[in-house]
Amino acid sequence: MADVVDLRSDTVTRPTAAMREAMASADVGDDVYGEDPTINQLEAEVAAMFGHGAAVFVPSGTMGNLVSLRLLCGQGEELICDADAHIVSYEAGAAAAHGGIQTRTPIVPRGLLSAAVVEPQIRVDGYHAVPTTALAVEQTHNRGGGAVYPVDTLRELRALADKYAITLHCDGARIWNAHIASGVSLSEYGALFDTMSVCLSKGLGAPVGSLVLMRDAVLAEKARDVRHRLGGAMRQAGVLAAAGLYAVRNHIDRLADDHDRARRLAEGIAAAAPGVTDPAETETNIVYLDLTNAPLDSAGLAAACAADGVLVSVLAPRRVRLVTHLDVDDAGIDRALTTICGALDS
Ligand SMILES: *Cc1c(COP(=O)(O)O)cnc(C)c1O
Repeated sequence: MADVVDLRSDTVTRPTAAMREAMASADVGDDVYGEDPTINQLEAEVAAMFGHGAAVFVPSGTMGNLVSLRLLCGQGEELICDADAHIVSYEAGAAAAHGGIQTRTPIVPRGLLSAAVVEPQIRVDGYHAVPTTALAVEQTHNRGGGAVYPVDTLRELRALADKYAITLHCDGARIWNAHIASGVSLSEYGALFDTMSVCLSKGLGAPVGSLVLMRDAVLAEKARDVRHRLGGAMRQAGVLAAAGLYAVRNHIDRLADDHDRARRLAEGIAAAAPGVTDPAETETNIVYLDLTNAPLDSAGLAAACAADGVLVSVLAPRRVRLVTHLDVDDAGIDRALTTICGALDS
């Protein structure tokens, strides 16, 4: 598969030689006893980056979101998040199945909530009312095309949460991309949220792992209980944490390259096939193609691309997603452009 240009997702990256070296030499112990020094280091280092009091290493972002929501929202209580959120789109109903959490999901452009949209959705007290206890945002927004929440919008949502005494969670699978695109520091983001889930295995290029961030050690103990109950407590997972540490130390700034490449992809496609994508909407590493008026549908484009060794994601019959990452270089973008523009031109 060496010469395949895989644009399906930023999860497809393989650990680099230097990352594998860090994994091979990692100091490890049994994390259920709290004795894995590499996991402890990763948790401390990432909590500090966001200015949070504690972090807990989990196997996936899905578990990161679920553990967070279990801390914030009880059974039969309600979470507000947008209708396209990963939490309600791609987690196999985990919040409902394992958390008994009801969701209320406004439809908003590019997945970005605002205080004006959310406030009327917060339920007022009443003996038969469902209590709204949490609000979740996704930074960047995956199905929203990698859209970045403006920090002012997040501040308004924080103020709203405070006004109604509800909690605010950030699905920050790609918060690193938001940080690079916006210049807003990770600690500025961190200050806004009660809990966050951040992924090491997306743009940062680690093979496995996410962290749940929270205010203090008491909540972290609760988070460890929930993780254990879900079967997510691991033993000498320092070999995985070592990859994560390498990633947060070495792979954040380079996300700018992924953003430049995504922009070049969007601009090239828009030039060859006007209306298929709006380059202004490519703020980070995700490009969406709208094939409504194109000569071929998503399956047709994906097949034409695959024949040339370019892989894309089919999200809907006329919607395709392209994602740039560590394993796609400039030559890969050139190849993808030739293939995609050729197919859309026919
Ligand atoms: C990838 C992703 C997650 C977590 O996914 P896992 O595959 O479970 O690690 C969570 N939220 C968003 C927005 C994502 O893109």
